[in-house]
Amino acid sequence: MISYDFTGKTVVVTGSARGIGRRCAERFLEAGANVALCGHSPRNIDDLLAELEPFTKGHNERVMYATCDVADAASIDAFFTAVVERFGAFDILVNNAGIWEATPVGSVTEEMWQRNIDTNLKSQLVACDWFARWHQENGGGQSIVNISSVSSVLTGENTPLYNLCKAATNSLTRTYAHGLGSLGINVNAVGPGTIATDINKAAYADPAAEAAMCDSLVMGRRGKTDDIANAVLFLASEESNYITGQVLFVDGGWLLQQAPKK
Ligand code: NAD
Repeated sequence: MISYDFTGKTVVVTGSARGIGRRCAERFLEAGANVALCGHSPRNIDDLLAELEPFTKGHNERVMYATCDVADAASIDAFFTAVVERFGAFDILVNNAGIWEATPVGSVTEEMWQRNIDTNLKSQLVACDWFARWHQENGGGQSIVNISSVSSVLTGENTPLYNLCKAATNSLTRTYAHGLGSLGINVNAVGPGTIATDINKAAYADPAAEAAMCDSLVMGRRGKTDDIANAVLFLASEESNYITGQVLFVDGGWLLQQAPKK
């Protein structure tokens, strides 16, 4: 594993109560960063600090947790304001929080639209824009990494809303890369394939479904949260500061395959 040094950097990872976001937060802590985690629900901070001890090695002052609903711009504003008050900086933003739900073609409702847009897309736009404004006023800043998906470039008759939100993430990434380059901030996205987390646990609960998916992938396995964290840390690090506006697919070869006709 590459060992990065994020000592002195302040990193925000949205949706870091579990899954990909949680693993990214752990890896940034291990690499010395100050990390602000957030989730829907309040957390007992002592319990969280105990869980994170293997990564902080007791440096609890580097951890912050906030309850934040990323679908709500005021909630993001309150969270980010608290981060800069606490750490005095905001170097890296990882826009990870997201939901996946079936919204089959022919049954999309306005309520589904609103929930998907607010959680998967508006959240990333509001967060990128807050970050942009803060750095326009205060200088500094290093990277934004938005979590996209292979779905951003695929169609899915069961998930038109998820797919369009993630496609828009790619566009948002390029646009903010353009807008923030003059400040020395690079903006990229990571597009996971299928990663074993709670978001898709039900879909792969049947071992036959898991085996069929693994068989269909060039690399023969589903991804791990570390596969995504590896890409996120690279794109957030100074090693990648001449890479901007890109979407790095971490998908075990999913996008190499021909799309089936149906
Ligand atoms: P997950 O369900 O384990 O984690 C998602 C996190 O986002 C959770 O902690 C959840 O609480 C949080 N979240 C959701 N809505 C929120 C809200 N309104 N406010 C605050 N937090 C909120 O799923 P994951 O697999 O870790 O997904 C992380 C990201 O990766 C998502 O953007 C998802 O779309 C993307 N992704 C995942 C996969 C995969 O196969 N797991 C594939 C492609 C993309």
